[in-house]
Formats: sequence, structure tokens, C-alpha cells
Amino acid sequence: MSNEASSSIRTSGGRPCPVCGKATYSRGGIHPQCAIVQADEGRKKQLIEKRKKEAESSKASGDKSKSKRWNKKCPKCSTEVHVRLKTCACGHKFDT
Ligand SMILES: [Zn+2]
Ligand SMILES: [Zn+2]
Repeated sequence: MSNEASSSIRTSGGRPCPVCGKATYSRGGIHPQCAIVQADEGRKKQLIEKRKKEAESSKASGDKSKSKRWNKKCPKCSTEVHVRLKTCACGHKFDT
């Protein structure tokens, strides 16, 4: 309804800000508030990359831990039982 929005976008004079594209007269060629946004974006990207790597590594190790590593075989009935169980279902008692 108003022309305020379009009139505020003036590229004559200052350099265009790399974040919002609007002219800026700041020394760094970027609005102070846009510099904060830019820094935040970089931080976000780093966080996402970090989380991706963590998820991938935990995925890889998680799949391996689900294998027979936590099972031991009962010498009496040859049934695989959890390594922390001291007694098998058949009644055999493990030493460890
Ligand atoms: Zn800006
Ligand atoms: Zn058994």
C-alpha cells in the first residue's frame, strides 16, 4: 500500500550489502545487523556439519554393537545367550 518499502531500497551511493543487497555506508560494506546474520549462518552451517558427522559415526558403531558381540554360546545346549546372563535357560551355569 505504501511506497516506503521500495523507496528504502536505494543502491545509489553506498555499496550493496552482500547479505540483504541494500546499499550500506558502513566501512565493512555490510550492515552491522547483516554481519551478525552472516556470522550466525556460518555458525549454523558448522553445527549442522558437526551433527551430520556425529550421526554418521554413531550410526556406524551402532550397527556393529547389535551383532553377536553381546552373546555367548552355552556349551550344554548351544543356545546363544546374553553375555551378562549367569545361567542359561537349560540350567547351565556360566563361570564368567
Ligand atoms: Zn544488509
Ligand atoms: Zn544352555
